[in-house]
Amino acid sequence: MKQRIPLEEAQEIVKKNLPDLSPENVILKEASGRILAESIFAPMNQPPFARSPLDGYALRAEDTRGASKDNPLKLKIVSRIFAGDRAKEPVNSGETARIMTGAPIPEGADCVIRQENTDRENDEVTICQELRPGQNYAPAGEDIEKGELLCSRGTLLRSPQLGVLASMGLERVEVRPLPKVAVITTGNELQALGEKLEPGQIYNSNNYLISARLEECGAKVTASLVAGDNKEEIKEKITENLPGCDFLVTTGGVSVGEKDLLLSILEELGAEIFFWKLGLKPGTPIVCAKLDGTIIFGLSGNPAAAVITFDLLVRPMLVEINGFEHLNLKSSRAVFVDEFNKSSRTRRLLRAVVVSSPRGEIVKLSRGRQRPGVLKTTLECNCLIDIPAGSPPLESGQEVEIFKLPEIYNY
Ligand code: AMP
Ligand code: MG
Repeated sequence: MKQRIPLEEAQEIVKKNLPDLSPENVILKEASGRILAESIFAPMNQPPFARSPLDGYALRAEDTRGASKDNPLKLKIVSRIFAGDRAKEPVNSGETARIMTGAPIPEGADCVIRQENTDRENDEVTICQELRPGQNYAPAGEDIEKGELLCSRGTLLRSPQLGVLASMGLERVEVRPLPKVAVITTGNELQALGEKLEPGQIYNSNNYLISARLEECGAKVTASLVAGDNKEEIKEKITENLPGCDFLVTTGGVSVGEKDLLLSILEELGAEIFFWKLGLKPGTPIVCAKLDGTIIFGLSGNPAAAVITFDLLVRPMLVEINGFEHLNLKSSRAVFVDEFNKSSRTRRLLRAVVVSSPRGEIVKLSRGRQRPGVLKTTLECNCLIDIPAGSPPLESGQEVEIFKLPEIYNY
């Protein structure tokens, strides 16, 4: 078993052990939030036929030549066409068709006059203006032309894409897999929300933090369980939930304390342990293993450590699966404009906020303490400062490496 390995080595191991998942063919109703696995070209024109964009009268533009207030033109109404009707008989010279928004424009007519610009008496309508061919006329394919590229592979399907695909009558689409994940939070001290905290207890925030992060990164949390620091209980929950999921995430019990049981549990279950501990702070305690072909991430119970190792290992794995690069961390550089007085013997990641400024991107620490158990720092955190092992304290004005988090509401 490898111990205290560098982050990049751990990332490579994860990459080589991705769950084997195929694209899914889903109905459009269930495609919201999924990533397209295929490029989609328009199978038809939209609108499929030339239609009126307003309520009025369809006619021949040439008939209106010379029409004005002083020279009103009278046309005979030969038909009434509503949205949903088939196109009726052609409009000949001297004729017009009463037409409603969305209705097919009959043959012969090449423009539509707005109802408000006409006067009607019985089956005759008076027009006092000239019209151009194509005026108020929505040709077939005005919106979407048959054969054009609508959405390319890798697109996140949201309301605009669903609307466009639905307008093409496409009932189903091929999407990238949505891995099923079981989350098991462990610890005797954990209390459920809504229950009274007894002395020594804390609320189980990791269950929410990690489950929501999984879903934000394109996974489906299919089981969310809690176990005490008890070997049999944890073993049972792992073996019961492993077959139904594509990978499993636990929190707590991966360090060196007397109740840190996960590593020995996994060994007893016969798992292949890829590594235990990372050369990283926070986030040193972590175990990554494979049991019955399924990868297991045992994250630290400390919320900030859990979320940082999640972002560095689980997030990239999810991006490999769903192909949505936007969700990945992006390496960048920024100017540090804060104070951090500790030297870093081990590689260290600081929760931070990067913003643009006239002199480029600047980064300061997130509000709250940089301890592994501190949750508040994750609130405004939009990047991690990556401090190499053996670095002295940071100086304000120095350039630092950062990993930027995606703006999840902005894609
Ligand atoms: P552990 O990884 O089990 O050693 O836990 C490290 C720290 O994280 C301890 O202070 C735990 O109380 C805390 N912790 C463990 N699990 C959770 C959880 N699910 N939610 C919030 N804090 C937790
Ligand atoms: Mg514990």
